[in-house]
Order: sequence, then C-alpha cells, then structure tokens
Amino acid sequence: MGLFGGRKTVFVDADVLVIGGGMAGCGATYESRYWGRDLKIVCIEKANIERSGAVAQGLYAINCYMGMQWGENQPEDHVRYARNDLMGLVREDLGYDVARHVDSSVHKFEEWGLPMMRDPKTGRYQREGKWQIMIHGESYKPIVAEAARKAATEVYNRIMVTHLLMDSAKANRVAGAVGFNVRTGDYHVFRAKAVIIAAGGASHIFKPRAVGEGMGRTWYAPWSSASAYGLPIQVGAKMTQMENRIVLTRFKDGYGPVGAYFLHLKTYTQNGYGEEYESKWTEHTRALVGEYVDHHPVPTCLRNHAFLEEMKAGRGPIRMVTKEAFQDPHKETVGWENFLGMTIGQAVVWASQNIDPKLINPELTTSEPYVMGSHATCSGAWASGPEDYAPAEYQWGYNRMLTVDGLFGAGDTIGGSAHKFSSGSFAEGRIAGKAAVKYVMEKGREQPQVSEQEVRDLQNTIYQPMENFRVGRNEIVAGTVSPSYLLPIHGLQRLQKIMDEYVGGISAHYMTNGQLLNRGLELLAMLKEDMSRMGAEDLHQLQRVWELHHRLLAAESVTHHTLFREETRWPGYYYRGDHMKLDDKNWHCFTLSRYDRTTGKWAMEKAPVYHIID
Ligand SMILES: Cc1cc2nc3c(=O)[nH]c(=O)nc-3n(C[C@H](O)[C@H](O)[C@H](O)COP(=O)(O)OP(=O)(O)OC[C@H]3O[C@@H](n4cnc5c(N)ncnc54)[C@H](O)[C@@H]3O)c2cc1C
Repeated sequence: MGLFGGRKTVFVDADVLVIGGGMAGCGATYESRYWGRDLKIVCIEKANIERSGAVAQGLYAINCYMGMQWGENQPEDHVRYARNDLMGLVREDLGYDVARHVDSSVHKFEEWGLPMMRDPKTGRYQREGKWQIMIHGESYKPIVAEAARKAATEVYNRIMVTHLLMDSAKANRVAGAVGFNVRTGDYHVFRAKAVIIAAGGASHIFKPRAVGEGMGRTWYAPWSSASAYGLPIQVGAKMTQMENRIVLTRFKDGYGPVGAYFLHLKTYTQNGYGEEYESKWTEHTRALVGEYVDHHPVPTCLRNHAFLEEMKAGRGPIRMVTKEAFQDPHKETVGWENFLGMTIGQAVVWASQNIDPKLINPELTTSEPYVMGSHATCSGAWASGPEDYAPAEYQWGYNRMLTVDGLFGAGDTIGGSAHKFSSGSFAEGRIAGKAAVKYVMEKGREQPQVSEQEVRDLQNTIYQPMENFRVGRNEIVAGTVSPSYLLPIHGLQRLQKIMDEYVGGISAHYMTNGQLLNRGLELLAMLKEDMSRMGAEDLHQLQRVWELHHRLLAAESVTHHTLFREETRWPGYYYRGDHMKLDDKNWHCFTLSRYDRTTGKWAMEKAPVYHIID
C-alpha cells in the first residue's frame, strides 16, 4: 500500500478548536459553549476524553480550593502561597485570576456527581491541607468529560495533533491544526478561528529512574508528551520559565504521592538512622538562597534540597514515618485509599516488596525532572493576563492569549502560574474558553486562510516515518537496529540521556553548568538532524515519533532557559554549578524565549516580575 493508500483526508471547520481534552480542555470546551451558544466548538484528543490526561486514573484530592463561601481563604492568600513556593517568581495576575474563579468550578464538579468528603462536624468539604480538599475521585475524569462532551459540537477522540496551521494571509495569526487518527491513520485538517491548546505537561524528557522493565512508571502521566509546548514553540509563541522543571519527593518505585501523608496523616520523614535531618541543612541552604529558607511553608524545592544533601552525605535512605499514624485504623484506611483512588501502582509495589506501612517505614525518593505549568512549577507559554488585573506589560489583547494571535492556552500550557492543579486547570480552561469566544465574536469572524500547499506538505512530513520504515526495513533481516532509520524508542532514550547528563537529571544529582548546557545543545541539535530519519512500523509508532518531536522542542527550550538564567533559583529542582547562589539582584525576573522555525535560532530575554499583592 502506498503512503496514503486507504487513508482519508478529513476537513473540519470550527469556530473554537480545543486541542487536548484533559482538565483544562474540558473546562475550555464547557465554557466556550456557554458564551458561544451558536458557535462550532470542537475538541480534539489523542486518547479518549473519558479517561485521558493526568487525571485519567482518578485523584484523591482537589489541590486548589479556596473555600471562600466559608471564609477559609481568599485568592490573595493563594497568590502569596504560590509566590513563596516558587521563590518569588509567579505571574500574580494569572494566579489571582485562577484563584478567584476556582471555587465555582469545584462546586460544578459536585453538582455533576463527584463525591466530596465532608467534615462531619462542620459539614464543610473535608480539608487535607490549607488548599486541598478530599474527594472520592476514581471517576473524577469521566464526570468532567461528560460536561465537555455535552457542550462540544464534536469531540474527535484518537487524533494526535502534530502541527498548528498559520494564516497564510495574516502574519502571526493561528488558523487551525493538523494531525492523524491513531487508529485509522486518516489525516485530519482542522481550520479554526481560535485555537486553545490544553495538551498537558511533559514527562519522559529526562531519563526516568525506572528504566528497562519499569519504563513507563513515571510520576507524571507517560502520555503527557510535551505537545502543550512543542505546538506553540513551533509557531513562534513566546515561552516562559522553562528552566523551572519540577522534581517531586514521592514514595519510592511507585511514585505514590505524599501530600495526604504529610498533611492529613501527619507523618514525617527521617534519615536512614531514624534522625530528623531537615533542620541540619538550614544554614547550608541559607548560604545559597538567603532568607527564603525561613519562609513558611518552606518552599518545596528547599525541602528537596535537604533530602538530596542528606542522601549525598551517605545517610539514606530517607523514609516516611508511617508506623505511628497507621496504628490509628482511620488513618490506615485513608493511607491505603489515597493510593487506591489515584496511584494503585504504589499499593501494588508495597504489596510486592512486603511493605506494610504499619510495620515498616517506606522509603521515599526524588523523581526525575518534569516540565509543566499547573503543578508546583511554572513552565509554559507566556500569556496575556486578565483585563481588570494584569499590569499593562502583561496584556496584549485577550486573557490567556499567547503571543500568537488567536492562539490561547490553559492548564499545563500556561507558564508563570503555579499551583493550579486539576481544579485550577479546569477553571483556567474556562477562562481561556470565554476569552476565545470573545475573540471570535469581536475579531475573528472571518475564517483564516489556510494554504493548500502547507496542508499537503505537512501530510507528507507527518507520514514520512512510515515510508522510512517500509523502505529501510528491507535492509535488515531481524532486530531493531537499522542503518537507515531510527525507532522512536531509540530517539527517546537518546533525548533522555542528553537531558539527564547535561541539563541536570538524576544521574548528575540535578547539577549542570554553562559548559554542560552548551554541549547538551550541540547534542540536541544532532538529534534534531536525525529526526527526519525516524522510522515508524505502525500508527502507534507514528504517534511516538510525533510525541518525540514535541518532547525534543520542549527539551531544547528547557536547555536554553537553563543556560540563560545564571543563578540557582530553585535548589532541589536543579543547580547551576557555575552560579550556585540565588541572585535576586539580577534574576528576580521571568525568562522568555522565542524559537524561529525558519532559522532554528532561539532568542532569549528577561521580563519583569510585578508584585501586585503585598
Ligand atoms: C500523578 C499525579 C498526581 C496528581 N495529583 C493531583 C491531586 O491530588 N490533586 C489535583 O488537584 N491535581 C493533581 N494532579 C495535577 C492535575 O492532574 C493536573 O494539574 C491537570 O490534569 C492539568 O490539566 P491539563 O488539562 O493541563 O492536562 P491534562 O489533564 O493532562 O490533559 C492534557 C490532555 O491533552 C491530550 N493531549 C496531549 N497531547 C496531545 C496531542 N498532541 N493531540 C491531542 N491531544 C493531546 C492528553 O491526552 C490529555 O487528555 C496530579 C497529576 C499527576 C500526574
């Protein structure tokens, strides 16, 4: 069969096109329908929105809820919290905007059937911590997806979006997207007046701790393949804080979350000799970051830093002290249910390793780095802020519009605004949906022009790896190593090795410097050259190829940003060995990058951080 034999080309026109049907995409789809009653709202998802994205297997807590109806917290409090955790650098306008809207989204989840735990004494939502509320969340995603399905004109499941389309008549204006159906292979061309990217964060950019038989066992979802960054980077959208990768302290081997353990069960950590160790590192940390070490709560990266230093001093393993809490049957139940509702794998790991947390204090580990904008970290696209709140420098049109006209983002896509989590990502999707509809009504009534030539060229590019495989396969009789093509798994492992060794991964103890970063960029450029020789055996592997393209672009961006920021702002996430200290005088700013796809060059700049809240 020829390259396109038996495959259809499907053309779809939309007013608002939502790429990615996870938490933010579902929020964007839902809200776009509310404001755009007569508009065509299309949502595209590479899996099936019923169980896709980082919330696919459920959650046990909603990590961003103010509780304003009970006077528990105000949006300003949340901004202060996120700012402190991110060592001073957040887009306060974006954070405030999410915080002021997030409660109403959580109330909708309950209305749609999400079982919330309630405090029997007060009747309020059961708090796990100051910002977290506890849920029976195994079906969280299907419940949210149902609202999006009912709101959308059409949902296209199983379509992997590979490229954005740009308007051929107007510079820097988005015009839609293209991709392919991962089951049928059909080529899909979506033309749209506004596009919202909500394609999740990035795992598997750095070499994971679990390799070989455990590969795929990562903390963030393995299918979070950096499309949220790769797609906008390709078309020249500015990115921000891409160096601010996150490293998580988690239960060893299963990546089970520790939040409920610390906050609700009140468990704590010890070194291998049963000693408290965090306070031992206070002065050492103060020498690196100054008074940030005295902040409460202690920023997440600094707690990681103490963990890493204690391990390097040879006093591991670090353990979570569960033996005391688990004597209480209620706490024991909560401890296990916490995993069964969202990370079943951790319960299975403990069972397989004979770990009963009532009798043994389980080991913790620090994860490989991840890139995302919705968790305790800030990487992502540089976006316009809310009209009523953002400083002039952060506004160039519509809320959550990127620096490309008509292109919006939400959730992991948007940089500078950490601690949104599932509920905040959904709320931000709603904010972006509302703004995108406004854009279509006011500016974008005309359907953008799409070049037929570009659509044909992209079709050839997208399926080329299948042709490479078909032809190259004849040159070998067995095995997976070919002289003329590179399989996606080989490319992925090469990417991870470069990032691990040169950009501050686990095997380098998260350490890098200017020399290493520059060499890393050279090696990434060589990998990029080889990407035209990727081979894909089938449609599944073709998807892997395009995921790798997106991961590679995001990785390049991370490396350029890490090189640009000449300080160590977040010890515990990564270290610049040649600039070991935090430098507020020169680097209390955002880093911005822009990729030029015609030259392949990256331009870096600084942007000011405005503190709007005292
Ligand atoms: C292990 C883990 C634990 C977490 N714990 C909590 C918690 O306890 N509480 C909490 O509130 N939050 C938690 N979070 C965070 C929360 O899941 C995220 O903040 C949220 O899902 C981000 O929303 P998003 O829409 O940006 O990304 P996602 O929800 O991941 O959605 C992205 C979607 O885009 C799709 N997609 C990706 N690429 C493409 C492409 N090229 N074409 C088409 N579709 C594409 C994906 O399949 C996915 O459906 C946790 C996350 C993880 C991974």
